[in-house]
Amino acid sequence: MSRQQTRSGSPAGPQATGEPARLRHVTYAWDDTYAAELSPVERLVYRSNLLGADGRITNTGGGNTSAKLEERDPLSGEPVDVLWVKGSGGDLRTARRENFASLYLDKVIALSQHYDRAPQHGPKTEIEDEIVGLYPHCTFGLNPRPSSIDTPLHAFVPFRHVDHMHPNAVIAVAAAANAERLTREIYGDEVVWIPWQRPGFDLGLKLGQVVRDHPTAKGVILGGHGLINWADDDKACYELTLELIERAGRFIEEHDKGENTFGGQK
Ligand SMILES: [Zn+2]
Repeated sequence: MSRQQTRSGSPAGPQATGEPARLRHVTYAWDDTYAAELSPVERLVYRSNLLGADGRITNTGGGNTSAKLEERDPLSGEPVDVLWVKGSGGDLRTARRENFASLYLDKVIALSQHYDRAPQHGPKTEIEDEIVGLYPHCTFGLNPRPSSIDTPLHAFVPFRHVDHMHPNAVIAVAAAANAERLTREIYGDEVVWIPWQRPGFDLGLKLGQVVRDHPTAKGVILGGHGLINWADDDKACYELTLELIERAGRFIEEHDKGENTFGGQK
């Protein structure tokens, strides 16, 4: 990657934050000079590529990212919040703009009324599948990229930027029998543990509730699955993702007892 080479010589690079020097379990790669040239959507693509390029941050084809950006509605000319979220298929490392779905945020949020009217709620209910069929009706800008099942997980977190990763270090914690206690031990109340459930609309609503219940939380560990964290600034979101993985990596390093680490796998 040519970007990799130009980055090292950049005087206004990541050194400014003081973060990279102490990271041992992830690679810090944000380049302020490079990012400054990009449009907001391009910055989301850039962030996604950086996250996807480090196998310790997420697995190939796994995880997704989003940004809630103000766009101009093509019909009304009014500013409108658009959720740009990694769509179905492809990999974060190589994702381009066309790999991201774009949806009117208020329309996605309004699907909760539709959801509430259904006789049965929760994972594997009919309404979950029905909602998936309604995402195309929320499309902004005639974008043909299909939305992924993780879309609501991004929509209902009321912060501008959300990263959802599958980092090995965090999954080691998330898959442990005592995952909830470990999450508290590593992150205090900065990260909230929630039990595994199938991704979908119900999970999105639960995340929204977690943020309301824990207004100072920065992220969630989803049992047996991975990490979801957020910030109102994209670089801050990227740095937070790295920091949270780093903390899990260090904790594991300090507590490694081989097979029986964390009381074994659940
Ligand atoms: Zn996932």
